[in-house]
Order: sequence, then structure tokens, then C-alpha cells
Amino acid sequence: MVVEMHAGLASDGGSKLKMLLTFVDALPNGNEEGIYYSIDLGGTNFRVLRVEVGAGSVIINQKVEHQPIPEELTKGTTEDLFNFVALALKSFLEREDDQDVKRALGFTFSFPVRQNSVSSGSLIRWTKGFSIEDTVGKDVAQCLNDALARCGLNVRVTALVNDTVGTLALGHYYDEDTVAAVIIGSGTNACYIERTDAIIKCQGLLTNSGGMVVNMEWGNFWSSHLPRTLYDISLDDETQNRNDQQSQQGFEKMISGMYLGEIARLVLHRMAQESDVFGDAADSLSNPFILSTPFLAAIREDDSPDLSEVRRVLQEHLKIPDAPLKTRRLVVKVCDIVTRRAARLAAAGIVGILKKLGRDGSGGVASTSSSSGGRARGQQPRRTVVAIEGGLYQGYPVLREYLDEALVEILGEEVARSVTLRVTEDGSGIGAALLAAVHSSNSQQQVPI
Ligand code: ADP
Ligand code: MG
Repeated sequence: MVVEMHAGLASDGGSKLKMLLTFVDALPNGNEEGIYYSIDLGGTNFRVLRVEVGAGSVIINQKVEHQPIPEELTKGTTEDLFNFVALALKSFLEREDDQDVKRALGFTFSFPVRQNSVSSGSLIRWTKGFSIEDTVGKDVAQCLNDALARCGLNVRVTALVNDTVGTLALGHYYDEDTVAAVIIGSGTNACYIERTDAIIKCQGLLTNSGGMVVNMEWGNFWSSHLPRTLYDISLDDETQNRNDQQSQQGFEKMISGMYLGEIARLVLHRMAQESDVFGDAADSLSNPFILSTPFLAAIREDDSPDLSEVRRVLQEHLKIPDAPLKTRRLVVKVCDIVTRRAARLAAAGIVGILKKLGRDGSGGVASTSSSSGGRARGQQPRRTVVAIEGGLYQGYPVLREYLDEALVEILGEEVARSVTLRVTEDGSGIGAALLAAVHSSNSQQQVPI
């Protein structure tokens, strides 16, 4: 991971890690005041948020509205998708009725974007099942601005941010030791604060703070050191047909909520083909994506002695009645293995970032810079906070346990104690609103990171 991070920072196309510049060189620190809005478009759900903040990291008021994105809009036209988003903001604002508020709008857009500035950037490609061809290459902030204008709203995007960056912003708002953020939801990704002089591909890049948030797009990470199973290859084939993403998002496909249930389904399907553990009633196992990740989690977390929850999921969702206890145990084991691998890979990725920042306790490479946090022998490891968000991480305690366990295993107990993973609820959206605050033109809050 660290090698690929260096390569991605050295040149565009130098690595499967895109290491995208975000132009975010100042993060909220708790002094922001006022009412800000944001829109979070990133996968399963779509959110509109209103955040009212007061000095001293106080969120006075927040309102979040969730809406599922109609499936057909993820495969339709650019205009339809952005009209939907703009109209949702419009009806939200009408209900709010605070007409005289200055509306700085943060736009969380959780797909790979090549930014030109903090408030503009073009879509590199869709991920997570979206495929609207004519959006690729377009400035998505402009697409939203156009849609906002079409529905008569006098609001424009102030900050266009990735969900990881929003999450980092909210983490930093509460705790200035926050240096990285990770999303583990439908997809997975991470960002962190890099020194501008380490961003070789952009020589001469200057920021007030000497730092900039880099969006790794780590979902696309791949390495020949990662063992890939038959099931990973089948999953890749399935999604290739659906989304033209051959061999893309390889890391994401082993970790995130969109895929874990399907990996387990592929394993169970093969078991059904090659043995009689499921009797004759396992036809449904040939349906791609029939086992969603929340059900995989429910199976793994069933601690009843007779695995009654497993029985229920098999019956109701996979149409497999009467699986004997021994078979139910086997199903739990499969779900456990898929979960454990995901958690351990995510943990390894986090350690990669800590290593790049010189905060993994090894005290090596990065310790040449005083701000990088490397430590000399015998010193206490520096406190490090990683903000985390995502339905899979938040909704699945076993995955969290495995992740923590792996961190301790790789870092050792002492260093692991200096690392805090902090859940930032709705961070991607609230963080974007706070970034809109930091980057809105009449703001005096430009405090460098
Ligand atoms: P997004 O990543 O689309 O912004 P979320 O962060 O809310 O959305 O993550 C949604 C994903 O989290 C779902 O696709 C689902 O796979 C997973 N998820 C949600 N709740 C649970 C749960 N209780 N157990 C396991 N996975 C869950
Ligand atoms: Mg999200």
C-alpha cells in the first residue's frame, strides 16, 4: 500500500491508487458559525443536510433527510439524476423556509473525481453500480449548479468533496489529531492529510498550510501480494458485465458492503453444486446478489444455540427450508471468513496510511520532517485519530472487532493504543457543510491544517 501511495503521488497513472488532489488545504476546527447545507450523493442513499454550528465545535442543530435513489436514475441520464438531486434540495429548503440565510452548499460526491479547484471537478468513472455514460468527464459541480438553476434555486456549490474528505472534515472539527478518514459502506475509500512537497506529480503546488488532503481512491488498490480466490474472480466477472469494471475496485470488492454478501453467496452456491449439504432446495443460490451484506451480518451475529436467525434468513431470503444445524453452522463459518478477510484488509490499509505518515511506530522513513509524526526510539507514539464512517462499519460489530484485532496484531499493543478510530455519524454530509463554511468566500475561518 505504501509503495503504491508513493507511486500514485509521483505521477498520474503511476499506480492503481489515483491519489487525487482535493484542493482542501484547510479543515474546520470548531470555530465555524452559521447555517450551512450539503448534499450527499454516494451510493445507496442520498441525503440533504442542514447544519447550524456555533463556536467551540458546537452543532446547534442538524437536520438530515435520507432518500433512496431510484434504481433507474443510476443508469439513466445526467440531467435526470441531477434534477432529482436539485429538486430534493428545493423541497427541503422550502420546508426550512430560512430565506435570508446565506447558503453555502457542500456537495459530497463519492465517486472518483479529478478536481480543478475545491468547488469543481470532473467525473473519472462511476463505481458502486452507477453507470451513466455521458457524465464521465463532466464537471459534476457544474451539473448540479445547472440543475439548481433549472429549478430556480439561487444556490451554488461552494465545496465539492469526496465522502472521505467530508468525514475527515467532521473528524477534524471535533479533534485536531484527526489525520485520515476511511469509509466502509457500500464501497470503501480513504483520504489523509499529505504534505504538499510529497505530492511530486504536482510540483510547485503551494498551499497556505503546506498540506493538502489526498483522496486515495483505495477501493481500486490492487497488489500481486493479495491472494485472489475463485469467488473474487467470479464476482469480478459478474460486475464487469454489469458495470464494465473489469479488474477495477479490486480492494473494494473484498471489503465493502456492496459485495461481501455476494462473495458468500458464490461460496455457498459452489458448495450446493458440489455437495448435498443444502438438499435439493438450493436453486435460489444461483441468483447473483440474493444474499445482501446485512443478511450476511445477521447470519454471523446469530448467537442463539440453535442458530434460529440463520434458519430464518435461509428460509425467507434464500428459500432454503429445513437446513440442518450442521449446515447452518457451515453457513455461519463461510460468512465469518468473508467478514474476517474484509476487516483485516481494511485494517492493513489503515496501517498503510499510518506508515506513510510515520505514525505506525516504526519511526523510519517519514521522520525527517518534524511535522510528520515519526518518533525516535523510546518516545511515546503520537496520538492519531482516524475518522470512520459507513453503514457496514457502523452496523456490523463483528467486523469492527476483527478490524481492531488486526490493528493490534500489526501495530503491537502500545502503538495501537495511540490510534483511535472514531465514528463520525453522517460525517460525509456534515463535514461537507463545514467545508462549505470554511471555503465560502466571506468566511474568516481559513485555519490551515
Ligand atoms: P453508502 O456507502 O452508500 O453511502 P452507507 O454508508 O449507509 O451507504 O452503507 C450502506 C451499506 O452498508 C449497505 O450497502 C450495506 O451493505 C451495509 N450495511 C448497512 N447496514 C448494515 C448492517 N447492519 N450489517 C452489515 N452491513 C450493513
Ligand atoms: Mg456514504
